[in-house]
Amino acid sequence: MGFKSDIEIAQEAQMKVINEIADSIGIPDKYVENYGKYKAKIDYRYYKDELETRPDAKVILVTAINPTPAGEGKTTTTIGLADAMNRLGKKTMVALREPSLGPVFGVKGGAAGGGYAQVVPMEDINLHFTGDLHAIGAANNLIAAMLDNHIHQGNALDIDTNKVTWRRCVDMNDRQLRSIVDGLGAKADGVTRQDGFDITVASEIMAVFCLANDILDLKERVSKIIVAYSREGKPVTAGDLHAEGAVAALLKDALKPNLVQTLEGTPAFIHGGPFANIAHGCNSVIATKMGMKLSDYMITEAGFGADLGAEKFIDIKCRMAGIRPNAVVLVATIKALKYNGGVPKTELQTENLEALEKGIPNLLKHIENITKVYHLPVVVAINAFPTDTEAELALVREKCEELGANVALSEVWARGGEGGEELAKEVIRLCEGESTMEYVYDVNASVKEKIEAIAAKVYGADGVDYTPKANREIKNLEAIGLGNLPICMAKNQYSLTDDAKKLGRPENFRITIRDITASAGAGFLVALTGDIMKMPGLPKVPSAEKIDVDADGVISGLF
Ligand code: ADP
Ligand code: MG
Repeated sequence: MGFKSDIEIAQEAQMKVINEIADSIGIPDKYVENYGKYKAKIDYRYYKDELETRPDAKVILVTAINPTPAGEGKTTTTIGLADAMNRLGKKTMVALREPSLGPVFGVKGGAAGGGYAQVVPMEDINLHFTGDLHAIGAANNLIAAMLDNHIHQGNALDIDTNKVTWRRCVDMNDRQLRSIVDGLGAKADGVTRQDGFDITVASEIMAVFCLANDILDLKERVSKIIVAYSREGKPVTAGDLHAEGAVAALLKDALKPNLVQTLEGTPAFIHGGPFANIAHGCNSVIATKMGMKLSDYMITEAGFGADLGAEKFIDIKCRMAGIRPNAVVLVATIKALKYNGGVPKTELQTENLEALEKGIPNLLKHIENITKVYHLPVVVAINAFPTDTEAELALVREKCEELGANVALSEVWARGGEGGEELAKEVIRLCEGESTMEYVYDVNASVKEKIEAIAAKVYGADGVDYTPKANREIKNLEAIGLGNLPICMAKNQYSLTDDAKKLGRPENFRITIRDITASAGAGFLVALTGDIMKMPGLPKVPSAEKIDVDADGVISGLF
């Protein structure tokens, strides 16, 4: 379409060496660990030794309406908004998730923003970066090896080999590994059992990594991870296998936040990237908190829409880390509004004012959730796409104004920070005053009360039904003392209901909880409303087929 691709724009960028970026926010050299010229890890001792007593920045959460399968531009908006805030003289940082190789080689694309609102070096960020995902995979697989070895060596913990819940992981979309049989061969080759791999970002280690306050907290959380059940039905933990020390040792460097820069030189932490369905979907607590000490405004993103990511950001991450956001940016696109208005995804490029108007109730429900349930001020950011028409943009703005909602057009994809100044001014205004955030539920309520609070208040459901299995598990989890953990809802991202096809603002529906599992190390219970894919597959034509590298090591085809 005549537009430069993300990678072309990124490769034209004049990057500053990372030490200059670290310097610009006053990080002393001794805490900066260089990974090449443009990436660095920041020692977490910096936080303990020098930052802890500093005042916290205002925190801004970027979330979205229910999306189309292509993503609505939360990361792009987060980056562009931070660039805009810096242009306006406000000391601003971002904290984002690190990309996983699965989506990079699959369909969705990278997670380093887009157009003129990107973080760089984007090739590195999207590929191995600083090796965190490999370290997390190794940590996960160490527990798996120790567990199977324990069984092989006599099984003193009396682990039921049919009730091993721990799975191996790899950072790749590889459906071939989803369900496997391992331990084949002779007696010395291990115990034969059904097993499987998850993608690394869906592992509990990733969730633990992202929620830990420091390395000691990480170790403590790892020791609580339930890896199997004994023949008596008692939980067996990673602590029972004495794995937590070695796991934490493997993660010691990974746990240091990664510092990079945006195209406009804004400092950015990119650290940790848990799935937003099976886990809570936001970057690490350690990076967010460090960023909150190094800036006056800290902008961060939560996965999927405001019904999933924002709810978990508040009820899980903020609750555990003591973070109180000041304002929310709700990203809306013309195409997602039309999608919610019933337009199939192949026809989203054509003007359709009628469908657009039909999709607006979805936006309205999210605005209501943010203001009346999370009790936070919100601005709608209309993320402008080249295919949007003037009439469509005007209609959304008009409808928002009619409803009394704050709204700003964001053109950061096309114009970088300059295109985000209207949004930035609105965000700065909303951040005046203290945070008014409220949780959706009291964490000490019963498991069912918590699930029902989310379903009723956030999704707009009439009630919740439980399968017999879910009922049994809830009883079991309450009996083993895990009933007071927050809930991590595993739901599709397209609909406010548990049926991905019910778009817009559905009414008169109930939610079904099919199963509930404990992520006792991460510190939440996962309530599953459908089948959650923890090991995705590649599409018929994977993006990997288009990616290449030349004689100079220059990569192409990465979006
Ligand atoms: P999210 O974080 O919500 O998943 P991203 O910011 O990663 O979304 O954007 C998803 C994709 O859409 C990226 O490839 C990005 O380049 C593209 N994109 C985002 N905003 C725009 C825009 N305004 N115009 C065109 N493409 C965009
Ligand atoms: Mg994103």
